Amino acid sequence: MWQSDAELFLEELIRLEGRGSHTQDTCFCGSDEPSLYRCKDCHGVELVCRQCVLYTHQWQPCHRIEHWNGSFFQKISLKSLGLRIQLGHRIGLRCNKPTPASNDDFVIVDVNGVHAVGLDFCGCQTAQVHVTQLLQVHLFPATTVKPKTTATFRALEHFQILSFKSKVSAFEFYQTVVRLTDNTGIHITKACFFYSCLLDNY
Ligand SMILES: [Zn+2]
Ligand SMILES: [Zn+2]
Ligand SMILES: [Zn+2]
Repeated sequence: MWQSDAELFLEELIRLEGRGSHTQDTCFCGSDEPSLYRCKDCHGVELVCRQCVLYTHQWQPCHRIEHWNGSFFQKISLKSLGLRIQLGHRIGLRCNKPTPASNDDFVIVDVNGVHAVGLDFCGCQTAQVHVTQLLQVHLFPATTVKPKTTATFRALEHFQILSFKSKVSAFEFYQTVVRLTDNTGIHITKACFFYSCLLDNY
C-alpha cells in the first residue's frame, strides 16, 4: 500500500517545488500586478501579488515568503518587499512620527527562523518607552538599551517546554532556528550568540 503510493507522494512533493496549478499570472484580488509570492507558513500555496502578500502579513510579520523568479522559488524577506511593523498603534495605522530602530536594523527570533524586519517605534508625544512598546506586542527584547533584537513570546515558550521535555540547551535551540533560516549555515545573523546567552537565563 505504502510502496504503491510512493510515486503519488513524490509527484506532489515535486509539484510543490514549482508553481503547480497556480500558473495564472493574475492575483485573486484582480490587480494587474503579477502573482509571484507565496508563504511557507500560511495555509495553502496560492500565489498572490506583492500588495496582497504585504496586506495579509501585517498580522504575520515573521512568516517566510518565497518569490517565483521565473525558474524557481527564492526566499525573499517581507522587509525587502516594503513591510513595516508599526508599534504603538493599531495594525494597519501608521504613526505620525515613526521612529525606526537604529540603522533600521531589527531582528526577531521566532520558532521558524531569525527574521530581519522593518520595525518602527511610535514617536508620538504619548509614546511608551521602546521596551514597553515591544512587550505590548509579545516581543521580548534582548536588552533594555536601544533594543534591536527580540524573541517572540511564542519562541520563548517553545524553548521553555522543549528544554523541560528534551533537555535542549539555549544554544542548540538557537542553532536550530538559525538552520531553519538558512540551512547552509553561511548566513549566521549577529543576533546568534547574544540571544543564546539571554535564553540561557530565561
Ligand atoms: Zn504567511
Ligand atoms: Zn493581489
Ligand atoms: Zn505614534
